[in-house]
Amino acid sequence: MLTVKEMNDLEGKRVIVRVDFNVPLKEGTIRDDNRIVQALPTIKELIAKGAKLILMSHLGKVQHKLAKDDPAKLAKQIKEGNMAPVAVRLGELLGKPVAFVPETRGEALVEAVNKLQNGDVLLLQNTRYEPGEEKNDTELSKIWASLGDAFVMDAFGSAHRAHASTYGIPEILKAEGKPVAVGYLVEKEIANLTRCVDVKDTDRPYIAILGGLKVSDKIKVIDSLLKKCDKVLIGGAMAFTFLKALGHSAGDSPVEDDQLAYAKNCYLKATGKIVLPVDTVVTDSFDPAIRTTVQTIGTASIPEGFQGLDVGPKTRELFASEIAKAKMIFWNGPMGVFEQDSFQKGTLAICEAVAKNEKAFTVCGGGDSAAAIKQFGFVDDFSHVSTGGGAALEMIENDGHLPGIDVVL
Ligand code: ADP
Ligand code: MG
Repeated sequence: MLTVKEMNDLEGKRVIVRVDFNVPLKEGTIRDDNRIVQALPTIKELIAKGAKLILMSHLGKVQHKLAKDDPAKLAKQIKEGNMAPVAVRLGELLGKPVAFVPETRGEALVEAVNKLQNGDVLLLQNTRYEPGEEKNDTELSKIWASLGDAFVMDAFGSAHRAHASTYGIPEILKAEGKPVAVGYLVEKEIANLTRCVDVKDTDRPYIAILGGLKVSDKIKVIDSLLKKCDKVLIGGAMAFTFLKALGHSAGDSPVEDDQLAYAKNCYLKATGKIVLPVDTVVTDSFDPAIRTTVQTIGTASIPEGFQGLDVGPKTRELFASEIAKAKMIFWNGPMGVFEQDSFQKGTLAICEAVAKNEKAFTVCGGGDSAAAIKQFGFVDDFSHVSTGGGAALEMIENDGHLPGIDVVL
């Protein structure tokens, strides 16, 4: 694996950098510039090496298939995906101008690339403006690859997608014998997530904490973690599918009936590894002004009309005691509806227990779980909070492999 730090002789070379500038925008204003900030070490390293930087990223969803049936919606997505505000913010953060080309190909782009001086930075328009991007279109990949003498992959959040900008370009450049490397952000993600996949004896007991919404989204992750971990704690809405599969009544809790057979089989096969909630906070309304009560699982089932929206106090203690014993922890998925005050105690309890366990190596991979950690102020208590939700999960599923990373190795 070549890293951006190890790349030499970049003076005057055109380096394409795939970054993850998929920032949350509201009416053209960036609401959180963290993803831009995270890309700065790689960008600065390349500037210092005298390269000519060509930055590429996608921004939001652009569903070209809407062209026929809902062109207005597609037009809105295109408008909202305009990369221009990102170039402005990046310029502010770097303290130097960033040339923005509102095109993804064509003369204006080639001209702007030709004009670059050593250490200059150029940002292309949203890669997803191109219908060929998500299809890894060969012609598009060739056009883009022709702009660069080298490629650096630093978009961890997009590394699980084999798109033209994440896969097609490095594939071509590599075949041409040009240097392709990973940036600092991707290097850090690989190091931390690989540790959760290639488990060392000294990292045991290794426990996984899984939560969030759907079993069906996470079957591969559950299976993979069950193979690697000593214990798997399951909370969130997901737990109710397991509980129901084991014969408990889940009331109106979100249960995936088509996953009951999987859940039961999975639980039995895991022979004691899976730890499920022993109580849950239930409510008869999803409204914030709610009546909530704690329901013990097993002694009384959740009545019809009620749903469990967080793990209960006994479960919080149980999970915390498992977390206290761990040497390594991988966490994905909140324990409850942490977006509402009444149902955040379970997720908060995980954060607190992780913070208390100072000897363990602790990793969170998951969009919403990472948001909860941030919201509750526990980022510094984790060894690593992944910047890629879906990418981190796929890396766990695929034993450390992602298309956008394997292609540069
Ligand atoms: P992540 O992004 O960390 O992988 P998911 O996307 O799988 O997590 O799930 C996050 C969502 O799950 C949150 O919006 C949260 O409100 C919801 N959730 C967690 N527990 C429950 C529950 N008991 N009932 C309904 N929704 C839940
Ligand atoms: Mg999510």
